[in-house]
Order: sequence, then C-alpha cells, then structure tokens
Amino acid sequence: MTQDPPLPHVAVVGLGGTIASSTLAPDDLLTYGAPGFHVDELLEYLRPELLSVAELDGEQVLASGSSTLSIADLVRVSEAVNDALSTADAVVVTSGSDALEEIAYWLDLTVPANRPVIVTGSMRPFAVRDPERPSPPTRLVHGADGPANLLAAIRVAASGVTAGQGVVVVFGDLLHAARDVVKRHSTLPDPFESPASGPIGYLFGGSVVLHRHVVRPPGDPAEPLVNLAGCATAAELPRVEILVSYPGGGGEAVDAYVAAGVRGLVIAGMGLGAISQDLAAAAGRAAENGLPVVCVSRSGAGSAVAKLGWEIVVGDLAPTKARLLLILALLGGQSSAQVAQTMSRLAMPGVPGSQG
Ligand code: ASP
Repeated sequence: MTQDPPLPHVAVVGLGGTIASSTLAPDDLLTYGAPGFHVDELLEYLRPELLSVAELDGEQVLASGSSTLSIADLVRVSEAVNDALSTADAVVVTSGSDALEEIAYWLDLTVPANRPVIVTGSMRPFAVRDPERPSPPTRLVHGADGPANLLAAIRVAASGVTAGQGVVVVFGDLLHAARDVVKRHSTLPDPFESPASGPIGYLFGGSVVLHRHVVRPPGDPAEPLVNLAGCATAAELPRVEILVSYPGGGGEAVDAYVAAGVRGLVIAGMGLGAISQDLAAAAGRAAENGLPVVCVSRSGAGSAVAKLGWEIVVGDLAPTKARLLLILALLGGQSSAQVAQTMSRLAMPGVPGSQG
C-alpha cells in the first residue's frame, strides 16, 4: 500500500487588519473593526478546503491595523517569521493592506528566501459579528475577499513554488514580488500592482502559475539579507523620515527633523528625483553634516538620478521602501558612505545607483 506524502507544514502568522476584522452587516464595508477574529478562527473557517492542502498552525503576533505598526513591531514580526521558518515548510502572514507593501518588503530583507513566505490581507472585513455576542466567522460580507485571499496564500505557500523568490504578496489571485508591489487604491477589492515589472504569477484554480523569477540581491537564500539577531532595542532603532518634493517646497522640515534627531531622510523627488531649490539647499546642508539623504522618484515607478552630489540613489524603490532599507542600513551605525554602499548592495541588481 502506498503512503501519501505528508502535507507541507504552513505556519500562519496573524497581525490584524481588515482580513481579521468584523462588521455589523454584510453590506457595511467601511465601518468595520473590532471585535476582530483570531487567526485560528480564520483558519477554522477554511478548514474543509485546507484539509488536503497543508498542516496548519496559527500564531497571533499582533492585532493591529497596519498603519499603526512601529519599526519595533516590524522587528517583532521578523522574529516571529524567522522562528516559524525554523520548523515550518512555509509561512503565511495575514496583515492590514494599508502598509502591507512595507511589511512584505521589510520581511523580504530580514527573513531567509529559501522557503516560501507569503503576505496577504483583504479589502473587506472577514465576516459579520455582533459585538455583544461574538461568534465564529459564519456570515461573510458580500464579496468578501479575506477568505479567498487567505486560501490562495496558503495554497501558494504549500505549493513551494515561490521558494527562493523572496517574500511574495498574494492578493486577488495575483502574486507580486515584495520589492515591487504597491497599494494603488484605497477601496477597490484588488488594489495591488507592481507598476514597473508586473506580477510574477497568478493562481489558476488551485494551481500556481509563475511567469518569471524575482531578481534578488546576491546572497545565500538560507540567510536573511539583513540579520536582525541581536538587533538594537526599540529605543535604539534609527528614525528615518520621508519628505515629498514639489515646486516651491521649503526646507524647514529638514531642519526640524534634524533637530528631532532623525538619522536619515528619504526625499521623494519629482520625475528623475528633482528637488525644489529650498528643500535641496536644506537637505544638502544636512547631508554635508553627515546625514544620509536618499533620493527616489515620487512618480510611482522608475529611478531617480544623483545630480546634486550628496544624494544616495537606490534605483526604483518606492519612497516607503527606501525608508525601510535606509533604517536597516543604519543599524550597523555606519558612516553615510558605508550606508550608501549597503543600500546599493541591497537594492535590485542592475538598476541605476545599485552595485549589484
Ligand atoms: N486599516 C486596515 C489596515 O490595517 C486596512 C486594511 O487592512 O485593508 O491596513
């Protein structure tokens, strides 16, 4: 008699967000929130479909909207995913969608790439729940995308197809590379895009179709690109802020941030990274005093080019992702030149400003 191969072990890490939230009526898609569902309740709802897909266990690490997460929270999420990867074949993270692209990219840099790590969420609450009498998620909202996205994410994780590709976002049956994906709409059910590169694949029925492989910075996929073990305590994590440039923009915010003790700045410049005169003057002074200042494009896709002599450019990263990369590059407490080198190594090979 042949023995069926064991099912892959998928650990599901819950962070909160809309995918874990409840609402009062099946057509109420905007006033949702608490009481939220525990990740085990979400998995229990899908159990019949998942029985033949994976051995699952859930861990509720946070129960917050993604916009409220601090960098210390992100460090905690990395620890949870790294711990889960020591025993599981793959990990799925359920998160709020607002900052999902940042959570995915942070994990991409801080957890190994040799096993699938999938991040998903939803735009609609999971189910209806009476706050007075909380019950399991049985009555879904109309067009609920949470159960579909979670099921799809677990299928992708269990398939093993994305091993080696880094962190992948699964949303609306599309697969996106963490580095490239951005949220482009505040309410539509499928708001994620990878503007320059497109998705890396999609789900067809229950199967995963991969269009292309993700180009990653060089390194051993069994090791994270940035090792957070023994990383700074929350209080020591470097503070980095983002400024957007536009015609006529002033530079006072730079001086205020420097006075507040920021360790680095990201400027989202116009087009190729153009910065208004006053902002450029203030940022240039800060850079000459040793503050790393990264310049990216605010255009939504495409790279900035260094023109002023003091900016660090990192290719076509979104400003929010350039900020996370700068925070991680600063953890070693290096000089501006070393920070530029670290960022360059971790940015995608081949793009302007990258050494890869
Ligand atoms: N407020 C939610 C969040 O945690 C939005 C969502 O999940 O779609 O990001």
